Amino acid sequence: MIEKRQFYINGAWVDPAAPRDMDVIDPATEDTCAVISLGDQADTDAAVAAAKTAFPGWAALEMSERIALLKKLSKIYKERRDDMAEAMRLEMGAPVDLATNGQWGAGAWHMAGFLEALADFEAETPYKEVDRTRLEPIGVCALITPWNWPMNQVVLKVFPALAVGCTVVLKPSEIAPLSSLLFAEMVHDAGIPAGVFNLVNGDGVGVGSQLSAHPDVDMVSFTGSTRAGIAISKAAADTLKRVSLELGGKGANIVFADADEKAVKRGVQHCMNNTGQSCNAPTRMLVERDRYAQAVEEAKATAEATQVGPTSESGRHIGPVVSEAQFNKIQGLIEVGIKEGATLVAGGLGRPEGVNKGYYVRPTVFADVTPDMTIYREEIFGPVLAMSPFDSEEEAISMANDTVYGLTNYIQSGDDAKRLRVARAVRSGMVETNGVGRQNGSPFGGYKQSGNGREGGLWGIEEFCEVKAISGCPWE
Ligand code: NAD
Repeated sequence: MIEKRQFYINGAWVDPAAPRDMDVIDPATEDTCAVISLGDQADTDAAVAAAKTAFPGWAALEMSERIALLKKLSKIYKERRDDMAEAMRLEMGAPVDLATNGQWGAGAWHMAGFLEALADFEAETPYKEVDRTRLEPIGVCALITPWNWPMNQVVLKVFPALAVGCTVVLKPSEIAPLSSLLFAEMVHDAGIPAGVFNLVNGDGVGVGSQLSAHPDVDMVSFTGSTRAGIAISKAAADTLKRVSLELGGKGANIVFADADEKAVKRGVQHCMNNTGQSCNAPTRMLVERDRYAQAVEEAKATAEATQVGPTSESGRHIGPVVSEAQFNKIQGLIEVGIKEGATLVAGGLGRPEGVNKGYYVRPTVFADVTPDMTIYREEIFGPVLAMSPFDSEEEAISMANDTVYGLTNYIQSGDDAKRLRVARAVRSGMVETNGVGRQNGSPFGGYKQSGNGREGGLWGIEEFCEVKAISGCPWE
């Protein structure tokens, strides 16, 4: 059993002020795999104070000095790939190959993307010859992260914040804290100065709220549910700190009749990837009527061919969902889907056949889902696809936009002009077409209730900056 009760504050591992244990559950076995401690106001205050004290010195370093330390961190992250993958396998149930490639790889990919973007980053630029604009670090940043892509989110926040000269307090998800604790070890070994990076474990109502309301925190960068994003925004309002939000999604995947023959299979697989626990998952498949019946058959076959299996086994199968609470929530939504009259074409209630332990869910496809149904509207965060037919391009756009979310939409069509036209018309921060993923450094973020932040690349670096205008100091 792993025991990790300490926090990383001011360059050292310290005991919590008032220890409060929490079990970390391995979702594949339902067994306790680790014990952590949840922090209290005193721990939050100590971490924020350390970050505040470290800020002037860190911000005053040359960018190249900070980047050199981040390169060291990146090297250590690569060397400890297997340890990091194992931490994520245990804490959030990613099968070992997904943990090693997709989950660990997302962190490495973003590190590389930031290092590339930083090479083009100019903190000070001339404006109309007389003025100059300067990007300066915003200060002490609270970074609050979820459990579903742990290192993806931690790197998207820690790397740019530190690069521009901010100091940080990371509060990882209490459900999946092991990877972040390991990340703190890496930060330490990279020689990043004391107080620049701090980690306090805790839950949302505790450390999460304390950081959001803290007068010495200048910015909260949050990824997680829309519910928590609203709570954080309210808690942060009294101190008018900047709040950057990456929240939920209910992405539409518009499949036109002229889409390539693998479009439906690709869409289903994308929806099921990471056991459906991705904010940008294409969970509503809208299919042009001419192709709809065939698409439902293809989706059924793809879902039925999706293997569900232990996280310890190598392979392309999907693992369990993260927790009992998520398992129950997903079961509840599948039940509602059936009750509200959607056609269940694959999967359904209960665990997959032959499985009686672990939070495993059956890859599920509903057809004939109408926009008034709960499963069309609510983020399920499990391997559950909702399919609906459409009759015209206008209807597809209107159905895609019929949601409070606006994170990623997907378009499948052989017609280049149509893809671009529809991509421009849908209201989301990202649009991926014909299965082509975004380039590294392309901005990640949402419209509407999917949030207001942009992460990755240059946009993600500027997120952690204030903009200062200086006049009367001519550009040499
Ligand atoms: P969550 O909102 O419950 O928790 C996320 C983090 O916020 C955790 O660290 C948690 O402790 C903290 N938190 C919870 N309530 C808080 C509060 N009142 N104040 C401060 N902090 C609080 O979400 P989750 O269950 O961990 O993650 C799943 C959600 O995250 C999904 O809705 C998903 O769509 C979203 N998500 C979004 C993105 C994105 O970039 N848009 C990426 C991944 C996940």
